[in-house]
Amino acid sequence: MGHIKGLKCRECGREYAIEPIYVCEFCFGPLEVAYDYKSIAGDISRKKIEKRDKNLWRYRELLPIDGEPQVGLDSGFTPLIRADNLARVLGVDELYLKDDTVVHPTLSFKDRVVAIALTKAKEFGFDTVACASTGNLAHSVSAHGAKAGFKRFIFIPSTLEASKIVASLVYEPNLIAVDGNYDDVNRLCSEIANKYKWAFVNINIRPFYAEGSKTLGFEVIEQLGWKAPDNVVVPCASGSLLTKVWKSFKEFRDVGIIKDLSTKVFAAQATGCSPIAAAIKQGRDVIRPVKPDTIAKSLAIGNPADGFYAAQVVRDTGGYAEDVSDPEIIDAIKLLARTEGVFAETAGGVTLASTIKLIQSGRIKRDESTVICITGNGLKTQEALQGHTSSPHHIKPSLASFEEVLENIKKGE
Ligand SMILES: *Cc1c(COP(=O)(O)O)cnc(C)c1O
Ligand SMILES: [Zn+2]
Repeated sequence: MGHIKGLKCRECGREYAIEPIYVCEFCFGPLEVAYDYKSIAGDISRKKIEKRDKNLWRYRELLPIDGEPQVGLDSGFTPLIRADNLARVLGVDELYLKDDTVVHPTLSFKDRVVAIALTKAKEFGFDTVACASTGNLAHSVSAHGAKAGFKRFIFIPSTLEASKIVASLVYEPNLIAVDGNYDDVNRLCSEIANKYKWAFVNINIRPFYAEGSKTLGFEVIEQLGWKAPDNVVVPCASGSLLTKVWKSFKEFRDVGIIKDLSTKVFAAQATGCSPIAAAIKQGRDVIRPVKPDTIAKSLAIGNPADGFYAAQVVRDTGGYAEDVSDPEIIDAIKLLARTEGVFAETAGGVTLASTIKLIQSGRIKRDESTVICITGNGLKTQEALQGHTSSPHHIKPSLASFEEVLENIKKGE
């Protein structure tokens, strides 16, 4: 399309042609897709976007593919929900949920990044795709890869939630459960990626994969009536989503889709795995790796690849970070469900619980607009709620038995 200049090292700025590579040969910095924003500005407009199908490819000028979209033609364009019930409880005026519990086909924001990664893998001519996953990526590569006709090798920590394992297995990928945590899996996968000519979506295809996260940010701006919110709260695992949400906001400004941009970006993590939040709160540049111990398994990356850049975005935009305990995560999942009717996975609990702390501490102001990113569906992490919900009322199949229970329910109200 002529909109893509190539790959560019985030550290030394050295440029590379578009290939399945991800690290600078000279300084080992990560590579990122570079665009020609001048040419895109002349080619993109609100009207043009609005006329397109409601999926993530409506922003294709700012996505790193050469030809037509090939994977994820029904992914993206999830609801932005005005959360007035929740806002009332939290004491703020204007609160929105970006509801990625309902992305097609696997109910987490990972369907966005995988749509781009697998389209790019097709363009590169790969026949096999692979990933190192904390759960949702396994699910998404398994599903998108099945539909697109790829052979699939999926690597996960063996301690993953049972429901996420079944959810991946049903698509019949080669699922490899590694004895170790995500960081062990990722290290092993880097070795495998060097040896086998596969498209590892979050290793050698990572620069393209990561761009898919921008579509969440583009949608937020479009759905707010073409304006950026005052605040956005983003959950962090590797930190990639957070950096790309900010990149998407800047790009819409740089190509003239929006005029003003003063959004503060906030990071949310579980206390049991909070290397990014800890660095931000302690005012450090260096991310200190940790050993994850949290029910928020989808966010359990102890050595986050983009942690440094995520912390930088938070600092540069005037945001902050919070981290929350497992009980706080569970309470927030239940609060979101009973106020807004949205069942989020543990990562959603992390994001909401962190937002509550940010409001209480005054970092997020009550009269500002705030978008919180709910990135995955609670049906996939039901075991986190085991013992934390009420039980059904058991009755005999008789009216009398029901009315006995009804009396008790009324008494309890
Ligand atoms: C992977 C994941 C994230 C965070 O992703 P990063 O880009 O690695 O920070 C957030 N929420 C959910 C549900 C995820 O699966
Ligand atoms: Zn470099």
